[in-house]
Amino acid sequence: MNPAPQRAAASAIPTVKLLIGGEFVESRTTQWRDVVNPATQEVLARVPFATPQELDAAVGAAREAFKTWRKTPIGVRARIFLKYQQLIREHMKELAAILTAEQGKTLADAEGDVFRGLEVVEHAANIGTLQMGELASNVATGVDTFTLLQPLGVCAGITPFNFPAMIPLWMFPMAIATGNTFVLKPSEQDPMVTMRLVELALQAGIPKGVLNVVHGGEEVVNGICDHPDIKAVSFVGSTRVGTHVYQRATLAGKRAQCMMGAKNHAVVMPDANKEQTLNNLLGAAFGAAGQRCMAASTAVLVGAARAWIPDLVAKARALKINAGTEAGTDVGPLISCAAHERVNGLIERGIAEGAKLELDGRKPQVAGYEKGNFVGPTIFSGVKPGMAIYEQEIFGPVLVILAADNLDAAIELVNRNPNGNGTALFTQSGAAARRFQEDIDVGQVGINVPIPVPVPLFSFTGSRASKLGDLGPYGKQVILFYTQTKTVTQRWFDDSTLNAGVNTTINLR
Ligand code: NAD
Repeated sequence: MNPAPQRAAASAIPTVKLLIGGEFVESRTTQWRDVVNPATQEVLARVPFATPQELDAAVGAAREAFKTWRKTPIGVRARIFLKYQQLIREHMKELAAILTAEQGKTLADAEGDVFRGLEVVEHAANIGTLQMGELASNVATGVDTFTLLQPLGVCAGITPFNFPAMIPLWMFPMAIATGNTFVLKPSEQDPMVTMRLVELALQAGIPKGVLNVVHGGEEVVNGICDHPDIKAVSFVGSTRVGTHVYQRATLAGKRAQCMMGAKNHAVVMPDANKEQTLNNLLGAAFGAAGQRCMAASTAVLVGAARAWIPDLVAKARALKINAGTEAGTDVGPLISCAAHERVNGLIERGIAEGAKLELDGRKPQVAGYEKGNFVGPTIFSGVKPGMAIYEQEIFGPVLVILAADNLDAAIELVNRNPNGNGTALFTQSGAAARRFQEDIDVGQVGINVPIPVPVPLFSFTGSRASKLGDLGPYGKQVILFYTQTKTVTQRWFDDSTLNAGVNTTINLR
């Protein structure tokens, strides 16, 4: 639970602006929230909860801009994103520093966050070849049929706190490159790096009104879902909120795609390369303090791989817990005091429900950052379905370990879990890998790759309870999400053509 917005207090703390019609403006709201450095509790800025009138103004600006943007040549659109990717590269260190200050992840991981978004911007620069239709000539005598992929109009995006660079960049570049205009609602917990990326997008040449930003929480999100001029909503965040957004937006007649929560299993076969597997598992479980939707939060040790627990624990114990700005940090703080409390509470439930606490990360001592929201790497073994630490997404540096007798039992366990975001198999057997990729019911599969997030030549393809809507963000699928396919069937009469008479059948001739 995030704290409720507070009344604004006059102070020297900078405010986060709205972007409406090409202007960065101060909100007139009375509801504000602090953006807090999770390693120090320093208040970095205050973010407004935009009023309904401000949301309406942002949508109005986007609606107006759509009239000209939809007709802007595809090469002009593509070149803006070529320029944009260059600007992001040039500002990489600055962007990472803003991100680490407000989100907590290490500087290297913050650069990774920006880089994975940058890859989508590079892809948007290829829009010329991505948004092509199809043509079949002579489908009947003198008749050709072709398709146009036309933009929808005003689209909107709602993003989570854990990737404040990558996920906004999953959304607005592809929506805008395909000819739509956009209203973005960043996470209210860490909107500052998103705003810097938005400034760079304007600098790259995105015209006034094509990209707009409103801030806020539940009310603004509901306003987006209900607004009659918004045609499509892209959401990334928790399953609880995503399910609500999907239902509300589709009920209001919009297209919607919602990428949601997860419980990702890494299945470890006894024939896997032990050293590589343990290192990969630890990075994927504890990197970003476990606050990744594709974190390998659940390990399934098959057969003799169960004997690897002491080595895994020893390696986890050696990870360095510190502020993301400090050199050599492996695990930074959690995003908020509320997240810290929730994760500690789930660890306590794990103990109470009978799981074996192999490594206890509660109350780590972090010199110089005593007020930070730190939880160290925590490992439970003997975990069973039904326990809260298995059923809930912990979203912290907690790895839960289950055991399986063989690959069949491991596959069955993973497939019984409702989530379908990601999974990985560690093995040296091609036959086991092939079997796993065929039979596992999860949308993104890694074979000796612990966090199999596809690059933007493909789409993000979480499945089952981790996703609502057919089409994923970025890649080929998102072109279809942000466009309407129009099919044109065309004939040109030639004065010399003989009159074929009236045709009362459905057949073209
Ligand atoms: P969240 O659902 O709390 O917030 C996401 C967005 O929804 C934010 O912009 C927030 O302002 C808004 N929101 C919050 N409460 C709302 C409410 N009651 N009504 C309407 N809108 C509301 O998620 P989070 O904590 O920011 O992010 C972490 C979650 O996101 C995790 O569950 C994680 O797995 C998931 N996630 C999924 C993916 C994916 O691709 N599947 C990627 C990243 C994060």
